[in-house]
Amino acid sequence: MLNLFEDKKDDFLPDVDEKQLNDEQVINELWSLKKKLKDEMIILGHHYQQDDVIQFADITGDSLKLAREAAKLDHPYIVFCGVHFMAETADMLSKENQKVILPDLNAGCSMADMANREQIDKAWSWLKEHTEEKIIPVTYINCDAKLKAFVGENDGSICTSSNAEEVIKWALNSGEKLMFFPDQHLGRNTCFKMGIPLEDMVVYNPNMLNGGLTSQQVKDAKVILWYGYCSVHQGFTKDHIDSLRKSSPETKIIVHPECSFDVCQGADDAGSTSYIINAVDKSPKGSQIAIGTEINLVNRLNAKYPDKNITSLSPYQCLCTTMYRVRPRWLLSSFRAIDRSQPINVISVPEEIKIPSLKALDRMLEIT
Ligand code: SF4
Repeated sequence: MLNLFEDKKDDFLPDVDEKQLNDEQVINELWSLKKKLKDEMIILGHHYQQDDVIQFADITGDSLKLAREAAKLDHPYIVFCGVHFMAETADMLSKENQKVILPDLNAGCSMADMANREQIDKAWSWLKEHTEEKIIPVTYINCDAKLKAFVGENDGSICTSSNAEEVIKWALNSGEKLMFFPDQHLGRNTCFKMGIPLEDMVVYNPNMLNGGLTSQQVKDAKVILWYGYCSVHQGFTKDHIDSLRKSSPETKIIVHPECSFDVCQGADDAGSTSYIINAVDKSPKGSQIAIGTEINLVNRLNAKYPDKNITSLSPYQCLCTTMYRVRPRWLLSSFRAIDRSQPINVISVPEEIKIPSLKALDRMLEIT
């Protein structure tokens, strides 16, 4: 097993506990270190990050925007307030002399954890044994770097929720079948929108013998989806939509395409995080919009547009708990380590994974 972390396990623990500093002191020291280290470090913050952390971000955005920004920066340290796969992508795109830091190494992604390289290799061999047709692999950017490397090695591409349609179109023009992982919902919702009927899609479940598929199903399918999903977006249900339609028929419903098929079909609109932000921004004053995506972003949009009524589609808090692991104390621990010139929680993707992954990233950028 390759170790993607440069640091030792001890570095996982923050050196700032409640006995040393209260919350206010943590925030004050963060501001003061941010000012002191402004030429050395830059802070990137994903939209799903909590307010106490996002306030320190120099650049905010979704995973694609942050990855692109990382490629343009010159600061020696990039502190990435997001989850592990995002920091890996930033490391791949950053310069050799830069270090990417994830304030809590346990900030992972439940969807990314639903597909590993061994499982993908096994599925790929099995699928290729059962069809003569050319399969093009496409991975959602929300995955481990080793999966990005897999698509780079096998003439495939990466995609994001903003460009999935363009990338899938390219894949189906380049081969006869598409293998899409790890998010079945983004794959299904996008393919259906492009006119591919559900009957032409099958789901490969890595927890079942042969993915739970027969040889004939593989031969007949146009699209092979991976059995993966985002536990946050899967929290939105068709019942939430039905209940809102009854209680507030004038409310417009916009959801993220990581939501299930019936939720996307029942909503008025669906699109990536950037798409949702743009749709809220463009909506007229007095609009009522229920959003099916992570709660921190929904709350922030509601605060940003006091003349609109922005709510979550779900009555429950759909919170990305892994993203939430990045807290001010962890951030302070990272800042202090940079101040000592002894960075902790550095994300470093090995060269043999980085090279094919970059090939896949470049292909995505060429396509889109
Ligand atoms: S919202 Fe879902 S896909 Fe995004 S980081 Fe959290 S678990 Fe992963």
